[in-house]
This record gives sequence, C-alpha cells and structure tokens, in this order.
Amino acid sequence: MQTTPLRAASSGSQPHVVVVGAGIVGLSTAWFLQERGVRVSVLDRTGVAAGASWGNAGWISPGMSIPLSEPSVLRYGLKALRDPDSPLFVPVKVERELIGFLLGFARRCTIGQWQKAMQHYIPMNALAIESYELLRAGGVDSPVHDAPLMAAFLEESDREALEREFDLIREAGVALQADRLTGDELRAEVPVLSQRVAAGIAIRGQRYIHPGRFVEALADSVRSRGGEIVLGADVKRLRQGPGGITCELVGREPVRGDAVVLATGAWLPELARQTGVRTLLVGGRGYSFSVATHQPVTGPVYFPVQRVACTPLGERLRVGGTMEFRGPDEPMYPGRVEAIVRTAEPLLDGVDWQDRQETWVGARPVTVDNLPLVGPTEQPGVWVAGGHGMWGITLGPATGRLLAEYVTEGRCPEPLKALDPLR
Ligand SMILES: Cc1cc2nc3c(=O)[nH]c(=O)nc-3n(C[C@H](O)[C@H](O)[C@H](O)COP(=O)(O)OP(=O)(O)OC[C@H]3O[C@@H](n4cnc5c(N)ncnc54)[C@H](O)[C@@H]3O)c2cc1C
Repeated sequence: MQTTPLRAASSGSQPHVVVVGAGIVGLSTAWFLQERGVRVSVLDRTGVAAGASWGNAGWISPGMSIPLSEPSVLRYGLKALRDPDSPLFVPVKVERELIGFLLGFARRCTIGQWQKAMQHYIPMNALAIESYELLRAGGVDSPVHDAPLMAAFLEESDREALEREFDLIREAGVALQADRLTGDELRAEVPVLSQRVAAGIAIRGQRYIHPGRFVEALADSVRSRGGEIVLGADVKRLRQGPGGITCELVGREPVRGDAVVLATGAWLPELARQTGVRTLLVGGRGYSFSVATHQPVTGPVYFPVQRVACTPLGERLRVGGTMEFRGPDEPMYPGRVEAIVRTAEPLLDGVDWQDRQETWVGARPVTVDNLPLVGPTEQPGVWVAGGHGMWGITLGPATGRLLAEYVTEGRCPEPLKALDPLR
C-alpha cells in the first residue's frame, strides 16, 4: 500500500508526529520516528507504561511469539471455563461485542488459520531482538538479559504437548532450539523449582527485560532526543484540518501534528473506530505480583500447563498469568491473584507467598484474528499501532521501527502488509 510520505505542514520545518499512548508500542514508534528526523509528542492519559506495558512478564521471546488461536486453545478454553482456579475467565454476563469476539476467535482456531497467521508473525519475530539492540545502541539505558526460557512440568506427558506445539512452529519455518531436561537438571539451573517438577525444556535464544523500567528508559531517551511526553493528556477525538490532525484533549488545549499514531493498547477501539478500523479488539486481562525467593532465580520460568509465567526482576520474582475478558478499566479481582498463588505454590519452593508486593492487573490488546493492527487508517495522516495481544513486549520495538519507515517513506514494509488495520 502507498501513502503520501510524511511532510511538515509548513515548508522548511521539521515534520511533527503525535503518538497517543506511552506504552512499549507508542514509545518505540516515537523513538524510531526520531531516528528518521521527525519531531514527536507522546500523549498519555495516565503515565508512562500505565497500561499493559508495566506488570507483564517482560519476555522478548521470538521463539514463542505465535498466534493464540492454536486448536488446542479452544479445547483448553472450554474445559477451563468449568474450573474456578483456571487462568481463563469469561464473565457469565457477556457483552454483545465480547460474544462476537469469542465466536470469531473460536472460528479461527483451526490448524490452517493458525499456520496462515503464523506466517505473518515470522518476519516480525525475526526483527524482535535486533530492534531491542538498536534501542540499546541508541542510548536506551536499561538492560536486556540473555537467558533461556525454562519450561517446567509436573508430568513428562505434559512436556509432549508443548513439544507438539514446537513441531508446528518448526514446520512453519522457525529455527527454534529447545532442549529436554530432566527434573534434576532443571532444578540445578533453577533451584527454586519444587521436587514435584519432573521434566523441563530449555528454550534457547530468548531475552527478557524489566518491562516497566525499560519503557521508562525508552521515554527518557525520547525526551533526551528532543521529544515531548505529555502525561494527563486524555485524547477524546481527532479532528482533520488544513494544518494537520488535531487531538482534542479532556480539559486541556488541543495538540496538533502532521500525523497521529494511535498506540492506545486495549483502549484502541475508542479512537480507532472513528478512523474506520473494524477488526474486533478486546482486553485480555492478566494479573501479576512479586514475591521474595530464598535463592536467586537467573532467568524466566514458564509453567505451560498452569499458564503461569515467572520473571526475575531485581531481588524479587514476578509471577503472573490469567486471561480475563473484562473491560480494561474494571477493578482488580483479588480472587484471580489467589488462584495464581494456589496454582503456582506446588511448583516453587523457597518462595515467601505471604510477602506479595506490586499486585497488578493489565489488559493485553487481543484482536479477533490474532494479528496486530499496524498501518494507515481511512483518515489520512492517522495511523494505528497495536493489538499485539500476548506479545507486545516482544514485537513493540520491531513494530515501531517498521511503522516509522512506513510513515516517513509512504511505502509499506513487507512484514506490515498483512497487518493492515483496515483488513
Ligand atoms: C500478565 C501479562 C504478561 C505479559 N507478558 C508478556 C511477555 O512476557 N512478552 C510479551 O511480548 N508480551 C507480554 N504481554 C503483552 C504485553 O504486555 C502487551 O502486548 C503490550 O504491553 C501492549 O503494549 P501497548 O503499548 O500496545 O499498550 P499499553 O502498554 O497498554 O499502552 C497503551 C497506553 O495508551 C494510553 N491511552 C489509552 N487511551 C488513551 C487516550 N484516549 N488518550 C491518551 N492515552 C491513552 C494508556 O494510558 C496506556 O498507557 C503480557 C501481558 C500481560 C497482561
């Protein structure tokens, strides 16, 4: 797709882009636009990393970044709905839009649809780690750790289910290195695992970050390169005018840019629908908290059967999970946190479960067809970047890099072709 390359409204001045949303996707887009000589303003109604980009697991995991609609997810989902401790939660009273989403999602849980969507993840995944390296080399001052992702299982047979998923990923053309470990070999690497863990897999070549700190460092870098970040700026409407696009804010002066990028995570439909984006997107909420451990943990740990993810962040271990289909602004449900504790307790030893801190809920922006929405909209000069669901940390910087190229040059980079927000 061709668009007009970005130009400043008045000749001779630097083009100016307003990015709405200061999460990993919005700030990465702003940073890569700066690389291309664009002046940026980032607006957020709440704060830097105020949405899903704060309390997530922080895995940069191109080997695992795949569409959610794998056929076993449907079987699992139907079973999970009957279990109060299950990581999946769908409210009993479901809104009309959520019904449409769930039916559309279920229809796509076929192997053929998964393989098709997977082909669009591969080129994005290939740029994931390299894009983080560009950010680091360009001055984003927060570490990116190189560590295998350790998957742990109570039963050997459970490991086979993940290995079957890996076979599908390899058949799709991904060189995924995953090594089998016995329970004892896994415990030698991750001593906090309990004696009940019987088998494991080390998934090599992945990275992890402290997501909140990384996104704050990204914001600092955007500021230090001359960008402005305006917090408490709640964008209610976009207005097209001769001098560009105006973002109307609640209770503040409007902000105008030559172009606007909407990167508002699970809130994306609020503004994007005005611009012709119809793909259903809902909030898939996850919970996390941190606990103290008696021994250090040196890398991420994943319990695929229990769908619990753990990440060492400083002295503490972040534990998270759950896919709860509720609105992104609904209150936190403490019962969900208790359910994660009950599920994870038998798997980890030497964890002080009473000393829980930083309890958090955040909404993944999940699209009905499992693909992000990245590109231009019906409204000239208004762009969308979001809908990365489970994998926005992995794919945020690659998305920002490709979108900055598209906005400034007007030609769609190959990996973004299937992510057209107007599909
Ligand atoms: C428990 C959990 C674990 C996860 N683990 C991982 C992981 O290990 N690896 C991975 O790759 N991904 C992971 N994810 C997914 C990842 O967190 C998200 O995909 C990603 O953070 C989405 O980023 P975003 O920038 O699109 O949205 P957000 O981070 O939600 O940012 C959107 C921002 O827009 C602002 N905003 C919204 N509306 C407006 C408005 N009208 N005006 C102004 N501002 C507005 C919000 O305040 C918010 O700051 C996880 C998610 C969860 C919940």
